[in-house]
Amino acid sequence: NHRIRLAARPHGEPTAPDYQHDMVDVPSPAEGQVLLRTRFLSLDPYVRGRMSDAESYAAPMEIGDVIVGATVSEVVESAADGFSAGDTVLSYGGWQEYSVEAAEGLRRLDPEGAPVTTALGVLGMPGFTAYAGLLAIGRPQPGETVAVAAATGPVGSAVGQIARVLGARAVGIAGGERKVERMRELGFDAALDHRTPDFGAHLADAAPDGIDVYFENVGGAVWDAVLPHLNEFARVPVCGLAASYNATALPEGPDRSGELMGAVLRKSLTLRGFIQREFAPTMFEDFLRDMTGWVASGQVRYLEDIHEGLDSAPDAFLGMLRGANLGKTIVQVS
Ligand code: NDP
Repeated sequence: NHRIRLAARPHGEPTAPDYQHDMVDVPSPAEGQVLLRTRFLSLDPYVRGRMSDAESYAAPMEIGDVIVGATVSEVVESAADGFSAGDTVLSYGGWQEYSVEAAEGLRRLDPEGAPVTTALGVLGMPGFTAYAGLLAIGRPQPGETVAVAAATGPVGSAVGQIARVLGARAVGIAGGERKVERMRELGFDAALDHRTPDFGAHLADAAPDGIDVYFENVGGAVWDAVLPHLNEFARVPVCGLAASYNATALPEGPDRSGELMGAVLRKSLTLRGFIQREFAPTMFEDFLRDMTGWVASGQVRYLEDIHEGLDSAPDAFLGMLRGANLGKTIVQVS
């Protein structure tokens, strides 16, 4: 069993010495467990947070732990009622070829239905994050303007397309011309490259009536550019701050927290952070029903960036944090 474990806590970007590859015997399932072979491994931004021991909403990994991650896996051997060899499941096997997991935590996938990789993206946790954050916090009304960054990623691309299903105008922001083209193909009403020097001017043109909902995925310079365009009573679901996950120091420049709080006050803004699991008990079933329908009808489309082999995981993970990915980052392990 080839595994990739956390060797050291990264300082800044995770690099090769932060990982340790090893080879151990394939484990055996105890009563109530199944042995799984990983087919697809999901690479997600939150894993960078769990490599650090800074305070967060989830406990950090320990040094020596297999790097965590959601997986689509095949049951190889079952010691649990309800699962048998050959079943495909959504599991949490992490960065390794085989895992043993308790049957209770597994969700069975139908290989005859949507492609199984969608359980890691548009029909899984990232898609649910988009749905819950937008519907519960953003609450866009028909005709309103919704802006979102990291807009070709699994969360942002779903946010923009759901906004359009709800009758809102979608302004997508992403890095690079290639991503701008993809946003247009996905049906965004406006598609902007945050790396161009005149991004701020383009944003003003793209949102002539201001922004009613800004779904925050990145923070940093994009947030600074968006803030002046927020309308009175705008809602900001604060979902992620990908621009700073590898930061080792505060950004240069004056303290702007006073300006931010002034804008919150003057414009009656709602900034509301959330972790998707808060909404799972009340919204996950509705999400699966709605999103499965939208994907089937073509109203919501998805992009995937699939890498070959477990060895590709460290580079693919770093690439995703830097914005090299085009769509949901996945490793095909077997
Ligand atoms: P993505 O696949 O979109 O990957 C992250 C993206 O962040 C990159 O592709 C890049 O896109 C963008 N990015 C990185 N650095 C910068 C920067 N300096 N400025 C602007 N953009 C940058 O990830 P996901 O769709 O999986 O996740 C999107 C966000 O949602 C993340 O912040 C993640 O942590 C968060 N999240 C939060 C959850 C919650 O429960 N709150 C659950 C799941 C995800 P580009 O090239 O377009 O700039």
